[in-house]
Amino acid sequence: MSEIIVEQADVSGWAVYKRLLGYVRPYLRPFLISIFGFIIYASTQAAFVRLMEQIVDVIGKGGEISRIMIPLALVSIFLVRGIGSFLGNYYIALVARSVVFKLRTEMFNHLMKLPSLYFDSNNSGHTISKVTYNVEQVTGAATDALKVIVREGFTVLILLGYLFYLNWRLSLVFLLVGPFIGLVVGYASKRFRRLSRRIQHSMGDVTHVASEAINGYRVVRTFGGEEYEKKRFYDAADQNMAQSMKMVVTSAISAPLIQLIVAFAMGLLVWLALHPDILADITPGQFIAFLTAAGMLAKPTRQLTEVNATIQKGIAASLSIFELLDAKPEHDPGSHEVERVRGELEFRGVSFSYGESSEPVLHDLSFKVAAGETVALVGKSGSGKTTLVSLLPRFYAHTSGEILLDGHPLADYSLSNLRRHIALVTQHVTLFNDTLAANMAYGEMADVPEEKIVAAATAAHAMEFIDNMPEGLQTLVGENGVLLSGGQRQRLAIARAILKDAPILILDEATSALDTESERHIQSALEAVMEGRTTLVIAHRLSTIEAADRIMVLDQGRIVESGRHEELLQRDGHYAQLHRMQFRDADGDEVEVAADLDPGPGVAGPDSPTKPD
Ligand code: ADP
Repeated sequence: MSEIIVEQADVSGWAVYKRLLGYVRPYLRPFLISIFGFIIYASTQAAFVRLMEQIVDVIGKGGEISRIMIPLALVSIFLVRGIGSFLGNYYIALVARSVVFKLRTEMFNHLMKLPSLYFDSNNSGHTISKVTYNVEQVTGAATDALKVIVREGFTVLILLGYLFYLNWRLSLVFLLVGPFIGLVVGYASKRFRRLSRRIQHSMGDVTHVASEAINGYRVVRTFGGEEYEKKRFYDAADQNMAQSMKMVVTSAISAPLIQLIVAFAMGLLVWLALHPDILADITPGQFIAFLTAAGMLAKPTRQLTEVNATIQKGIAASLSIFELLDAKPEHDPGSHEVERVRGELEFRGVSFSYGESSEPVLHDLSFKVAAGETVALVGKSGSGKTTLVSLLPRFYAHTSGEILLDGHPLADYSLSNLRRHIALVTQHVTLFNDTLAANMAYGEMADVPEEKIVAAATAAHAMEFIDNMPEGLQTLVGENGVLLSGGQRQRLAIARAILKDAPILILDEATSALDTESERHIQSALEAVMEGRTTLVIAHRLSTIEAADRIMVLDQGRIVESGRHEELLQRDGHYAQLHRMQFRDADGDEVEVAADLDPGPGVAGPDSPTKPD
């Protein structure tokens, strides 16, 4: 799977890191407190060495040592060190968690604005794993890394400074090894980032495969897909493990390698220091202090090199996060707002294709729908009915032509205002893990009084089953309404639309999950709802749309026939043919067969556990 990862080597790591640090900026104060804490912490290291120097020198000279002062100094150093360490760790964590929080919420808020095309072309597992996993990787780079850089960096600087102060010529040895360390770090960085990107991608695959197999468990079990899913998951998890191990290997080799380089420097240092001329120059205390300080350099150097992996992980994660944050939100330039539209629709030469290079799905459609009229769209599966209605709430922008609502181009309306005028019921009913009442009074309707909810539920024939629920309207529906049958879910969706009381109603196979009996019930409810509203109905059962003001037959994205039910039957064209197909059994007798014209993809799909109603 790694081959499909876009290698983003051309994006400068530093530019990304700078942008990431931009998120740290608002937390400058806690950040500075933390740095202050780490500086204190680092200084105590040097203080400790200095104390050693004193002790040795005092003993060497055979002088009095203060039995009180030195232990006191020792304890004080550790006290100060403890305080520094607390301030440093606490405040850096505060900054880190705040950055993750901010990035996460920003990502989620941005997801709420992204267009349908984004969701069509990005796999949900990968998007979810960006919000859950990738963003956590950033913590490290934004803060843990800074913490180590500040704390260990200062430690190194202070120790080096002290070494130079003791004997600057000897200390020059350390500068010699700098370029070698740089070489190792440079190579390791590139590799870390590449591996990190693969790890993230594999986490996306893990999330994706798991959520597909979990959501679609019925299909997996009945079609014996267990082995296939296990294999898919194994591959994703295995890829994750392999890349993680490569990361560990790189880190586990580069860190000791750098330490080895430092050890060479130390060896050289000792060799030089033991030169009689130099030995004569310094006190034994200074000599011990020099070696101690040089030895103390090893740990911070190691940590500084290890932190590189964290930074590179963070950069790779930030890249993927910024990619999401930079994805263009829905185009919403319009500012026209009205309280309530009349609901007059006009399509003028509208064409549409899903992508720039793909074939048009709708060709040059022109028609008008008067306010309050009910228009049914029929046609074979794939003829473009759903696509046509999804242009109205501007889930997709039509490619050419014009769509007018009350005489104004759709694009002139602000998206939120436009969508306020449209109620949509689709065959894929989306329910949230909340109460029945909250599912009907969803979103902007959250505050409507209960009587209204009950009225809408009654009109949608939903009250019948709601009354039998243990807690009535307050019953929880489970994730995506698993506790309800397909028909019950659909009635809730219809109630939701009734409650919205919008002037335009779109019913896309809204009654597909109902049996004939409940459908008749709801049909009458729907007819009541359609009164006075502009309604577009897509129905696979032609019997349900006989009463429509007009029926438009779509074929391969073109309107091939339009008229009332009887007219079209008499014309004996496309509609009559569709009608004959649906209402004829093997003997040629007229019956309504359940096998429908357009079963629709979701009827037995994994996400709609359609139990018989
Ligand atoms: P209908 O509702 O009549 O069954 P649709 O409007 O769903 O037809 O589909 C019309 C055509 O558009 C089909 O060929 C389908 O493959 C294509 N299509 C539908 N949705 C998308 C999409 N999100 N991206 C690309 N092509 C799509």
